[in-house]
Amino acid sequence: NARNKSCSGYRLFMPEMDKEARERQSLDSELHSAVTEGLIKVFYQPLMDAKSGRLVGAEALARWQSHSGRYISPDKFIPLAEENGLIKQIGKSILLSACKDAAFWRSNYGAEFRVAVNISALQCSDMGFIETIEKILQETGFPPELLEIELTERTLVADSHAATVFMEVARGMGIRLSIDDFGTGYSALGYLRKFPFTTLKIDKSFTSEISDKGKGNALISSIIQMAHALDLEVIAEGVENEFQREFLIDCGCEILQGYLLGHPVPADQFLLNIELL
Ligand code: C2E
Ligand code: MG
Ligand code: MG
Ligand code: MG
Repeated sequence: NARNKSCSGYRLFMPEMDKEARERQSLDSELHSAVTEGLIKVFYQPLMDAKSGRLVGAEALARWQSHSGRYISPDKFIPLAEENGLIKQIGKSILLSACKDAAFWRSNYGAEFRVAVNISALQCSDMGFIETIEKILQETGFPPELLEIELTERTLVADSHAATVFMEVARGMGIRLSIDDFGTGYSALGYLRKFPFTTLKIDKSFTSEISDKGKGNALISSIIQMAHALDLEVIAEGVENEFQREFLIDCGCEILQGYLLGHPVPADQFLLNIELL
């Protein structure tokens, strides 16, 4: 009968679910020890002025190389860290490293450029986080005007009130605020006006559509126009070829980021970019 059928169906499915749950559990405990042992590192990817091609900043990206030597993608461990709460600790250490490194580049190489750090919803809604930022800026002597915090639409939706409060305070301190992965979420245009953003980052899924076939081109140019009408600076991520670069320059996009300009690399390697400044 129906009941038996669903029963056996359930049982058939179990081993798979078990396996997934077990993998998750082990990744979870691996992540805990990785955080304790300081194995989460920061890589930096260059942000380039679109027209002049000059280095204008870096985005800090979390990297985790496990004991076995393999890299685990942030797309995998960041959502896990958001679930188990470790994101607060990880986020704090990424922010500290980013401000330390950028302050060092600034004082030793005169690199007067910004560093961008990704922030999750859980961090925004933690009242102590603003104090953490203040403390880190004080300790490292990095100017708030050169710190850019990247938030996604998901973060805004997760806790709109907390995000609003967080952004108002951060902006009041002089920190730049960018909306990351623009176009992949629920972004009603109202969102852009409601929050005090300074920068809009076009998601790489849009950039990758730019081609001589022209399919995604009109969309990109209207996103850029709209951003400018709202007084937002535009960064295009995922720029991989010359055609995309030229198209984006023609549209008035201010900053480019992508493999064409440079891959994410460890701090000491990023320094090579600066020495060439
Ligand atoms: P994101 O903030 O949108 O970062 C851009 C992603 O695009 C990075 O992936 C970067 O390596 C990749 N990328 C850069 N240029 C190109 C390109 O030309 N082509 C392609 N296909 N990809 C490119 P990554 O480092 O794997 O990070 C993935 C996501 O994980 C980030 O997306 C961000 O949402 C999240 N993430 C990374 N680090 C942190 C962190 O410290 N905190 C939080 N909360 N999230 C982070
Ligand atoms: Mg980002
Ligand atoms: Mg992005
Ligand atoms: Mg992304």
